[in-house]
Amino acid sequence: MTQQPVQANDLRALWSEIEDDALEAVRRVGRSGWFVLGSEVATFEQELGRLHGVEHVVGCASGLDAIEIALRAAGIGAGDRVITTPLTAFATALAIERAGAEVCFADVDSSGLIDLGQVESALERDPAIRAVVPVHLYGQSVDIARLGGIAERHDCLVIEDAAQAVCGDADGAPLGSTTVGAATSFYPTKNLGALGDGGALLTNDAQIAEAARQLRDYGQSAKYEHSTLGLNSRLDELHAAILRSALLPRLPRALTRRSQIAQRYLQEIDNPALRMLDPATRSTWHLFPIFTGDPALRDDLQASLGESGIGTAVHYPILASDQQALAGRQFGSFPVAAGLAGSELSLPIHPYLSDPKVDRVIATVNEWKPA
Ligand SMILES: *Cc1c(COP(=O)(O)O)cnc(C)c1O
Repeated sequence: MTQQPVQANDLRALWSEIEDDALEAVRRVGRSGWFVLGSEVATFEQELGRLHGVEHVVGCASGLDAIEIALRAAGIGAGDRVITTPLTAFATALAIERAGAEVCFADVDSSGLIDLGQVESALERDPAIRAVVPVHLYGQSVDIARLGGIAERHDCLVIEDAAQAVCGDADGAPLGSTTVGAATSFYPTKNLGALGDGGALLTNDAQIAEAARQLRDYGQSAKYEHSTLGLNSRLDELHAAILRSALLPRLPRALTRRSQIAQRYLQEIDNPALRMLDPATRSTWHLFPIFTGDPALRDDLQASLGESGIGTAVHYPILASDQQALAGRQFGSFPVAAGLAGSELSLPIHPYLSDPKVDRVIATVNEWKPA
């Protein structure tokens, strides 16, 4: 008997669940005759703000744009340096450069999150660093209270990359609620994935929200009046309607299911050749990373799971600081991040993963022996 594959993500299963609600949302928008930045976007923004726990949500065209817009709304641009982690989606570094600033990096700790001690020493050495972009990697929360203290001592702003952590909090404070804000992404595989691209800025700062609303719409402050050089990063009514009516109402349950699967992996994966995150870590469990002790073994584990029909992914095989697009810059070296980039493997974790499939992942991972 051939076993069904265990997919890393299952967006067809998502569609089967939401089809009726999504089609109803499409009809509603079609009949309204209003397709960009209208009442669907405004209502979705309010409802996401309520669920996540911030006062203002500004829908954008992507997570990348939401980071750029947050930086620019906070006045970060040409002449400023911005520090982030090299172990992230390239979009984090790209958004900093697109805002006109210059990206630099600090190494991560063993959980994959930016090392706050290294951020502090970088800020001490380099007063040109005006902002920090921590990434809530895998869905884990960076210690925002501690980072906020470090940033304040060095007169530096914090803009959070919460693309993987919508509805996350740090010590009980919703992400983005105590800083300039947090950018999130509605890329289809994210925890709140749309049927296409989208993103949002989450903030409690009314001025930042207002500046972001202008920036996403050509820098328009009133109709036909352009006070800054903005971008076109508007959220479509269709996406907003589907997000609001079909996806957002299912997010709490989806997050609970992700967390259940993570708890099972944490409790039942028991293979001395593998390391997992600290079971006490606070996370929205966008991803479930495991780490092989020896980097060369990661590919062997991935191939072995693949032969058993289990889909996995690597987050991220190449550090942002090593990307060709940034060639020629002197960034220094990031040994912990490089080690994780070479040894991380993301196990399937999504709301449509059944218990028998979770059983199979656990059994297969436990049986694997380093070659
Ligand atoms: C997905 C992601 C982004 C970019 O979001 P898009 O919507 O794809 O532009 C940025 N940062 C991180 C950490 C991400 O995972």
